[in-house]
Amino acid sequence: MDFDLLIKKARTRSSEKDFLDIGIKDGKVSKIGKNLSKKASQIIDGKGKLVTESFVNGHLHLCKVYTLAMVGTEALTSYQGASMGKAMTAIELASKVKEQYDESWIIENVRKAARLAVKYGNTHIRAFADTDTKAKLEGVKALIKAREEFKESVEIQVVAFPQDGVVRDPGAEDYIRQAMDFGADVVGGIPWIEYTDEDSQRHIDLMFELAKKYDKDVSMLIDDAGDPGLRTLEMLATKTIKEGWEGRVMVHHARAMALYPEPYFRKIVALLKRGEIGVVSDPQTGPLYARVKDLYDEGVAIALGQDDIADAYYPYGRNNMLEVAFLASHLMWMTTFEEMEILYDLITTNAAKAMAIKNFEMKEGNKANLVVLDAESVWEALNEHGAPLHVIKDGKEVTIE
Ligand SMILES: [Zn+2]
Repeated sequence: MDFDLLIKKARTRSSEKDFLDIGIKDGKVSKIGKNLSKKASQIIDGKGKLVTESFVNGHLHLCKVYTLAMVGTEALTSYQGASMGKAMTAIELASKVKEQYDESWIIENVRKAARLAVKYGNTHIRAFADTDTKAKLEGVKALIKAREEFKESVEIQVVAFPQDGVVRDPGAEDYIRQAMDFGADVVGGIPWIEYTDEDSQRHIDLMFELAKKYDKDVSMLIDDAGDPGLRTLEMLATKTIKEGWEGRVMVHHARAMALYPEPYFRKIVALLKRGEIGVVSDPQTGPLYARVKDLYDEGVAIALGQDDIADAYYPYGRNNMLEVAFLASHLMWMTTFEEMEILYDLITTNAAKAMAIKNFEMKEGNKANLVVLDAESVWEALNEHGAPLHVIKDGKEVTIE
């Protein structure tokens, strides 16, 4: 056999009118070309549909999915109201659900969301588990269990995340340490939630100590409120450079960026580039969002994320990244064909770059993480935002159990 899997008659983002075959062997794209050998263990008829890299979701609060009915919409109103001036109140309201946290019910919700991720062609998710004195390790345990159950179809990277702060929530740091011992993949953080700049810096320093001790990447929720005076993105970026953690840090939200004065924004861009920091924005979950297009134009690894699925912060969500891009297209007024291509990068190749996933682009020699869409163009894919016809992870077609 020449290939383990062969996709015949595929359209790619750059193939224009030509149809190409994509041969996959040993988990990798081994050949892309016209009329390849049909000696393959499995053949998928591409039917002239668009084949691209699979979808990557850089930000999902996976322990909280489907908790909206438990918490009601009070927190959501605070989070999105007053130009995000009350976001901190929302987090306090939302934390009530954690008094009932238990791995046994969380895992059921996680499985439901993970199955949707597979259906909609996500092969990689950076998933946050609240890890603090209320949630304890219940969320982390559920997410690690799901990570193992779904590893053939979607890579779930588990972030141990101190949602209510570290200085504000004495004891949270110890739970993060326990979560890392338990097998969490990434050290989280949310420095802007602390009461003073000094405490925010302490939050970053403590989480970095753990990241270095366990040799792990860092993912922090940053400046997620309508306050242009928030400065934790700058703090985290300078810390990243100081500690030599370039290419290993991701920031999420950074909504206050929308309100920065231009010279300060330019300084932040320079720091993000120097620190090789990935940024995930979720314009559908709040009225402010990071300057996505400007960051893209500057070459920053910017991506879109699902953020939430039916929880205290956002009532919808299907783990469908095409749907996220479709919503972002309206919210950010990115509706030209060129901008649609950018949106598509933000949920595929750029998202992979932000998460430091290597060799992700669909080209010979790289890993075969692909989707065969039920659409012929990026425009049609965004418009329909339907489930792919086929999803391939590490060279194998995946199915939903
Ligand atoms: Zn979030």
